[in-house]
Amino acid sequence: MSKPVQFNCSLPIQPINKAEKEFYQDLLYKMRIIGYYENSTSLHFAKTCIPTDEIKTKATLKLSMVDEEDEVDLDDLILLELLDWFKCDFFKWVDSIKCDSCNMATQNEGMLPPTINEKEWDAQQVEGYFCSKCSKHFRFPRYNNPQKLLDTREGRCGEWANAFTLLCLALGYEARLISDWTDHAWTEVYSNSKKCWLHCDPCENVCDKPLLYEAGWKKKLTYIIAFSKYEVQDVTWRYTSDFESVLKRRNYCREEFVLGCISAIQKRLEQPLKREVLNKIYERRARELACFFSPAQPENESYSGRTSGSLAWRIARSESGFASTQSAYVFKLIPEEIEQRHFHVQYCSASDKYIRANTSINIEGWMSCTFSHRNIFRKVENDWKMVYLALTEGSKEGNISWKFDFQGHGLVISKIKMNLMSKTFDCGNVRWLLFPNPYKESLVHLTAGIHPIEITELAGTTGFTLTAELIAGDKWQNAQIFRQSLDSTTIFPFEVEIRFEEHKENLN
Ligand SMILES: [Zn+2]
Repeated sequence: MSKPVQFNCSLPIQPINKAEKEFYQDLLYKMRIIGYYENSTSLHFAKTCIPTDEIKTKATLKLSMVDEEDEVDLDDLILLELLDWFKCDFFKWVDSIKCDSCNMATQNEGMLPPTINEKEWDAQQVEGYFCSKCSKHFRFPRYNNPQKLLDTREGRCGEWANAFTLLCLALGYEARLISDWTDHAWTEVYSNSKKCWLHCDPCENVCDKPLLYEAGWKKKLTYIIAFSKYEVQDVTWRYTSDFESVLKRRNYCREEFVLGCISAIQKRLEQPLKREVLNKIYERRARELACFFSPAQPENESYSGRTSGSLAWRIARSESGFASTQSAYVFKLIPEEIEQRHFHVQYCSASDKYIRANTSINIEGWMSCTFSHRNIFRKVENDWKMVYLALTEGSKEGNISWKFDFQGHGLVISKIKMNLMSKTFDCGNVRWLLFPNPYKESLVHLTAGIHPIEITELAGTTGFTLTAELIAGDKWQNAQIFRQSLDSTTIFPFEVEIRFEEHKENLN
């Protein structure tokens, strides 16, 4: 184990009240944790905890499923796999302690002093719990040494962020520990491909969704500070779309005091650094600060849902394909369709069949032609004689997509007709999104209902992806698509009909 390194520096501006003193102490406290990330034994141990081969294999497979134009990088994908593994397989959330004899909830007894052993792993505080039924006492030491956390594998957001940051560094990423003064913590990882720091919340298994807290959780943010061995940075501005309100709330300390503390620590950190390292840091910082000039905007009101365009969304698209048994199906033209310059596919949920009109192709099974789907199944209600696609029981959200790729025949799309049927109950929701290939912003946003639509915006292109996002509200049955009675086998609640014309260049 390693001893905590006390971090000291002299301040150019003195605290004038208790709040400012505490703010500075908090900064130093976080810098002390950063010291542990330098420990080679800890880094080595962290590496042995990660199933690196498995994670890399998964990421490589996903990379093969993402469009090249999406410019997704293998390292970014590995990071997403690491987050997923950390949250789902490795670390455990601790609220209160359960009794190990009777498995009942225990009573909190307040804080206890750490033992010598606990102190060795830098537990400053220990929560005490008591089971009155079994007369047993329990301790929950809040360790600061991340190596110990890889052993205990449990805690709250502080422990999660601390352990996850160490794991990222062990895998060779550059990572910063992020501390949110409204009581949360997470990690930022530098993406070489995107040339920016990516927000990674290990407790939520969320990447690149910085407005999650303000727009999703309705947090009233104040100070969010990033810590690494190279720098301390006020990164609040990445996490808010409302600078003005945040500034009004930042009355805990004088702004010049905050700035003074940060630049003093910064100076101290830069002392031992070589010129080339410093240049790299300065360049990144300039880029980061430039981003902070314009506030990010939440893309829709349900920020807890997926945001199209974010890295997370792009990956989720391939992730869902990866998770399904039949995945990544792409509709392509066959000779009859090329000759007629006409593509027409229909799906009937009663017969559970896709029919390619104008051809003899019938394909059984709703999932056999999806590009991706996640948390979706076909529900047959035998009592009511109804059938539809819906979220799997207990899912809060899910999606299904179909991909159409007509490249390589000298044809471009001239007109698209679609029929998209969905039905929602109570607070359930269905959103239809249409993404041109290669990936750009979505073109069409339709909410639940019956939609015979004509689309001309995709004229001249050679393909697109159609996605339905289903959101449950309070019950999984609340969002349905393609609902119809079991005997209506000649009615198609899903239809895509496309007319083509020759590509102009071919005419010349
Ligand atoms: Zn008990």
